[in-house]
Amino acid sequence: MSEERLRIAIQKSGRLSEGSFDLLKSCGLKVSRGKDKLYGRVHELPIDVLLLRDDDIPSFVADDACDVGIVGQNVFEEDRLNLEQEHAAEAVMALGFARCKLMLAAPKEWTFDSPEMLEGKRIATSYPGLTRLWLKEHGVKARPVMMKGSVEVAPRLKIADAVCDIVSTGATLDANGLKPVATVFESQAALIRRRAPFSAEKQATFEALLKRINGVITSRDAKYVMMNAPRSAVAAITEYLPGADAPTILELAGASDKVAIHAVCRESVFWDHLEELKNLGASAILVLPIEKMMP
Ligand code: ATP
Ligand code: ZN
Repeated sequence: MSEERLRIAIQKSGRLSEGSFDLLKSCGLKVSRGKDKLYGRVHELPIDVLLLRDDDIPSFVADDACDVGIVGQNVFEEDRLNLEQEHAAEAVMALGFARCKLMLAAPKEWTFDSPEMLEGKRIATSYPGLTRLWLKEHGVKARPVMMKGSVEVAPRLKIADAVCDIVSTGATLDANGLKPVATVFESQAALIRRRAPFSAEKQATFEALLKRINGVITSRDAKYVMMNAPRSAVAAITEYLPGADAPTILELAGASDKVAIHAVCRESVFWDHLEELKNLGASAILVLPIEKMMP
């Protein structure tokens, strides 16, 4: 492994893996995996990929074993909170996938009307740092009980009174007689890097990687939108095209009072305003995908 190749750590297998590989692929980076499956190599840029357990990623990046990593904000924040000194790694950007919530959950029979309900209670969690921070912010004195897995069985086993765990559908909680009562932390995958400066070569690779990731993230929700509209409604319509800096206005052959509007805008918001656009006289609306976009 050459010194000057940027080393990126991603989860070997689990809920972050697919999104991480997809992101690299969308960046035009193909990872060829080594025989041992723990290591991969990218050909388009001088990048090596290390495949690890997600929990090891923050410390590997901090300790110089890797330069950057993709990990859940929940795992990185927890790692940060459990350190006495400043973490040697820092978050660079959120990546928009592996969204999940760390939630407090209590037995179904509790009427949970305020955080004070937790006063003096034991809370089973794999995230004692984030749990303690939430309790402090809400002025509640309770005791996190560290558990690495199967957190949701703790109340049944009388190891704890409540739990603080990652929740997606809530089905696991339900099966264990628990209900979510408060959100402690909202998470998604993030790119982290070592704080210490990279060598000039690694820095150049890192910047090239960041540029590609930015391009992918910006274009993920972006659409190229075209429509015809009365010339007098252009200003009003532009208001409803979020993220479109300056739409292109084109003459329509044989129609002096109508123009074509072309714009790049965020799809999620565009659909919310479809009715308003029609009411303003927009017609022949076309929404096209964008393959790549460089900000
Ligand atoms: P490993 O074997 O690598 O230690 P793990 O079992 O600890 O894996 P996963 O369940 O694969 O971890 O989850 C990895 C990360 O994915 C979590 O830390 C969180 O950021 C995110 N995640 C967890 N649950 C969900 C979910 N239901 N939906 C989306 N993302 C999730
Ligand atoms: Zn893990």
